[in-house]
Amino acid sequence: MIDCLPPLRDVIAAHDLQPKKSLGQNFLLDLNLTAKIARQAGDLSGCDVLEIGPGPGGLTRGLLAEGARRVLAVEKDARCLPALEEVAAAYPDRLQVINADALDLDVLAHLTPPVRVVANLPYNVGTELLVRWLTPKEWPPYWDSLTLMFQKEVAQRIVAQPGGKAYGRLAILSQWRCDARIVMQLPPEAFTPPPKVHSAVVHLQRLEQPRFEADAAALSRVVAAAFNQRRKMLRSSLKGISKDIEAHLVAAGIKPTERAEQVPIEGFCALAREVAK
Ligand code: SAM
Repeated sequence: MIDCLPPLRDVIAAHDLQPKKSLGQNFLLDLNLTAKIARQAGDLSGCDVLEIGPGPGGLTRGLLAEGARRVLAVEKDARCLPALEEVAAAYPDRLQVINADALDLDVLAHLTPPVRVVANLPYNVGTELLVRWLTPKEWPPYWDSLTLMFQKEVAQRIVAQPGGKAYGRLAILSQWRCDARIVMQLPPEAFTPPPKVHSAVVHLQRLEQPRFEADAAALSRVVAAAFNQRRKMLRSSLKGISKDIEAHLVAAGIKPTERAEQVPIEGFCALAREVAK
């Protein structure tokens, strides 16, 4: 037992929290597992934790039991609020719940650094949130680390190396500014209801400075175009970026006949600098 609150199955029954597919609701009900996920984020005692999508509160309880200074939990589904209020009452002054869409909310006003982000993300908005966390104009960002659940294929794309099919936009944006690794793997049965896919937790530790200089918007644009047509040669897939793309590629040290998959992060950063000149 990690706290004196009722088991999550009882919480879900008491508040009639039938999982909704449209909100990506695959809940974790094993509190030992949620505490283990919370531990992947390191020592939380001096940190504010941002959690997106607390649902009935399994991971939230893990984070609080593991000693997070404060948790800010952003949940879109108002049906979950009464269950989360019970968690807040069990951990006085340590849990703030906001009923909002995480894609619309400015969380910064509610957080005090150091901040770590920990979430079992809804799969339909997970990638969008990750890309937003990784691509602010200024670096370092407001958060120190991201510890996030994804479907396994997405997790593999985040940690992928050049040369393989998984390597693309997510690998480049993640590893450009962070150390990224898979820290846990979970089978479908770990969730209620079980999703069709396997899942994995990725831990991204921010670097104080990006590995290579580049403007985030320019890099995002170049990488999105390059991998949008990943089987084409770069001189062709990147035509829309600049009419002088061949010259830019050469100046960045990249062969115009190369395919996106072969180019390391350093090459894309050099290209983003050339294009932005
Ligand atoms: N954290 C809980 C757990 O681990 O059992 C629930 C995880 S469930 C995969 C995703 C949660 O995100 C759901 O509670 C869902 O209602 C919520 N959610 C979905 N879209 C959201 C959004 N745009 N903003 C905030 N929360 C959202």
